[in-house]
Amino acid sequence: MPISDFPRYPLTFGPSPVHPLDRLSAHLGGARIWAKREDVSSGLAYGGNKVRKLEYLVPDALRRGADTLVSIGGYQSNHTRQVAAVAAHLGLKAVLVQEKWVDWPDALSDRTGNIMLSRIMGAEVRLDPAEFGVGFKPSWERAIEDVEARGGRPYAIPAGASDHPLGGLGFANWAAEVERQERELGVFFDTIVVCAVTGSTHAGMIAGFAAQDRPRRVIGIDASAKIEETRDQVERIARRTAELIGVDRELADEEIDVRPGWEGPAYGIPDDSTLDAIRLVARLEGVITDPVYEGKSMAGLIDLVRDRTIPADSHVLYAHLGGQPALPAYAGLFTS
Ligand code: PLP
Repeated sequence: MPISDFPRYPLTFGPSPVHPLDRLSAHLGGARIWAKREDVSSGLAYGGNKVRKLEYLVPDALRRGADTLVSIGGYQSNHTRQVAAVAAHLGLKAVLVQEKWVDWPDALSDRTGNIMLSRIMGAEVRLDPAEFGVGFKPSWERAIEDVEARGGRPYAIPAGASDHPLGGLGFANWAAEVERQERELGVFFDTIVVCAVTGSTHAGMIAGFAAQDRPRRVIGIDASAKIEETRDQVERIARRTAELIGVDRELADEEIDVRPGWEGPAYGIPDDSTLDAIRLVARLEGVITDPVYEGKSMAGLIDLVRDRTIPADSHVLYAHLGGQPALPAYAGLFTS
């Protein structure tokens, strides 16, 4: 069935804003760059891309009578912070498994930024030493069992709300929103650039745009430094979502366009290209990106515009997915 027919619980202010980044475009001297801003589109704990995904999981959770949302991520997970916010907003509990995904020296990383916000919002935060990995984890299964054992009704949300039957719908809806905004703005975005890790943001976009008439490129920039896993996640979720929303053709392999090159040494660790991108966009536009996700996809966008992989006559849309609340855990990077 079409995306417009799926139950959706509104958690955003409305369509996320789209605006041009004129000083960045002029600086790079190629394509015209625009941004669509998931970081400023919800009043729930600074928003971000997961709020939009959760708009489609919440009706399912409420229908099942859940009283506790159970999810998982790194210490500085934006996703778990958004789960905590949505739980608070709905009057539910949240149990969050926070794993040590990043070997980062900042002594405050387990108590500032995202994890601090989740605690402020009343979530039960469980620290776990496990390393980075977006698959299903025993600690998460244990948390679900614990909620059941104390008489609660858990609703299980996997990392990034991605590997869930409804995980791709939020960004399939984003694609439909883009089409409406294009009509209002009189512009067509031939290229989209988006960060990919757990995969359902990129995957939902691919499925959503596949349901439209006019083809375009949707380029995912891997930020996990595990490109094969990211690509598998994106492909699987894109195909599942396309089927769910009634796309009447198989997705072509080239539509699953996930690119390495800007991931840095590991998930959660920036390199010079990440930090240069963060500073450049902050100084030219006053737009803030983070060292885990958006700084990496912005570094990709900058290089692809500079080297004309994205042609000079393109209108390119950068999906800003949030992530700024992690910045305090990276304060040591920005002391001058
Ligand atoms: N950008 C930000 C700010 C995120 O929090 C995430 C979450 O993982 C991503 C990008 C990547 O999105 P996804 O996990 O859906 O691939």
